[in-house]
Amino acid sequence: MTPITSFKDKNVALFGLGGSGFVSAQALVAGGANVSVWDDKESARDKAREAGLNVVDLHDADWTQFSSFVLAPGVPLTHPEPHWSVKKAKEADVEIIGDIELFCRERAHIAPRSLFVAITGTNGKSTTTALVAHLFKSFGYDVQVGGNIGTPILALEPPADNRVHVIECSSFQIDLTPSINPWVGVLLNVTPDHLDRHGTMENYAAIKERLVAGAENAVICLDDDICVAIADRLKKAKKSGTSVSVTHDDLAEGIVLDGTRLVRRVQGRSLTIADLAGIASLRGKHNGQNAAAAVAALGSHGFDLDRVRAGLQSFPGLPHRMEEVGQLGKVLFVNDSKATNADAAEKALLSFEQIFWIIGGRAKEGGIEPLRSLFPKVVKAYLVGEATELFARTIGDDLPYERCGTLDVALLAATRDAEASSLDAPVVLLSPACASFDQFPDFEKRGDYFRGLVKALLAEREKV
Ligand code: ADP
Repeated sequence: MTPITSFKDKNVALFGLGGSGFVSAQALVAGGANVSVWDDKESARDKAREAGLNVVDLHDADWTQFSSFVLAPGVPLTHPEPHWSVKKAKEADVEIIGDIELFCRERAHIAPRSLFVAITGTNGKSTTTALVAHLFKSFGYDVQVGGNIGTPILALEPPADNRVHVIECSSFQIDLTPSINPWVGVLLNVTPDHLDRHGTMENYAAIKERLVAGAENAVICLDDDICVAIADRLKKAKKSGTSVSVTHDDLAEGIVLDGTRLVRRVQGRSLTIADLAGIASLRGKHNGQNAAAAVAALGSHGFDLDRVRAGLQSFPGLPHRMEEVGQLGKVLFVNDSKATNADAAEKALLSFEQIFWIIGGRAKEGGIEPLRSLFPKVVKAYLVGEATELFARTIGDDLPYERCGTLDVALLAATRDAEASSLDAPVVLLSPACASFDQFPDFEKRGDYFRGLVKALLAEREKV
């Protein structure tokens, strides 16, 4: 844990006792702050009481006593409307901050030169965070990885000189971190998302921009208009950093993807860093962007090519993101359960050929219509869940398809067809382009179930 010593003896209010809020309260108490905590859920309050936290009904509290208000990132700060606790804090003129802000202030206090890499973007945050952490480990650092990716930041060890903190930041977290100032800030991409919580695209993009604007070194991927505009502004402000691109391989300075090769450009000259072809965990152009950004985030370590290459090669990837879960003869099985919308499923369809595609679940707006141009890569579709009839209508006569209802039935049907085909490298791909909630609690459970089905199928075949 990282005790927040910089708030010693201060009175702090905290709302939201889920994973990160709970740890924030404990970290503040460990550092000597007086913390009053609350949550709308009684079960969360009971758990806090059991852990010895000071549960105080913030509806009735005297807010003028608080110097800061710590808010969990899942609680609305501005949209669709500010939470009641936010209104109370604003009325009493109490600053509103989150756990990453607490970390930044503690770091400034105890180890301001410690390595702290903060990563954001609409897509690819977790993959890039895991990859940066993996690469730093190969350089022998004590790597602390967390934030939006899992372990709350304050549950990690405190910043120190021999340590690297690699932290995934959501826009909600950045919104609660006014003094965000990482050693390296990475911005991968900005496309429309979470507008229910940020109001407008401008607001959402401005929040993402703050992470790189505050960084000592900014790594920005120049592959969408918003990121290009942000990079231009930072360049004018003479911010130091590295440009990355997978769409403009003519950059004179920075890291680009040239075909499948990751290339560093220095004054227009090219130096090959690594060939990503054959690295299963980094398949696809989107992963090229993640890999390029990750290498840029290494700073001068990125020039140790042998280690960088070995690190990229050995990156295991994350579960549920184009995860190879088995091979049966020539048939490859891939779990891409994280693809809960058409945008994400597009990445998988672009990355494979000869696809036996398992799709469906609870459809998102727009369904799979945006994927029509990729249908020629699909041999057959296997429809599951609530979206079955909608997707059947969208596909029409463009593709053969089969209504399967559930994943187990779909897997057997797709395996049967893939094995019977005369194709040389068929892929049975679960990339549902849908939320999982009609049949599973979350995409992880859906992916775990699929992986389990594949493993069972392979084990059964081995017996025969
Ligand atoms: P996040 O943490 O931002 O949700 P992940 O690394 O978990 O991102 O990847 C989620 C999905 O987003 C992947 O399955 C893939 O479909 C897509 N994706 C990953 N990286 C990128 C990227 N750089 N650009 C666009 N889409 C991406």
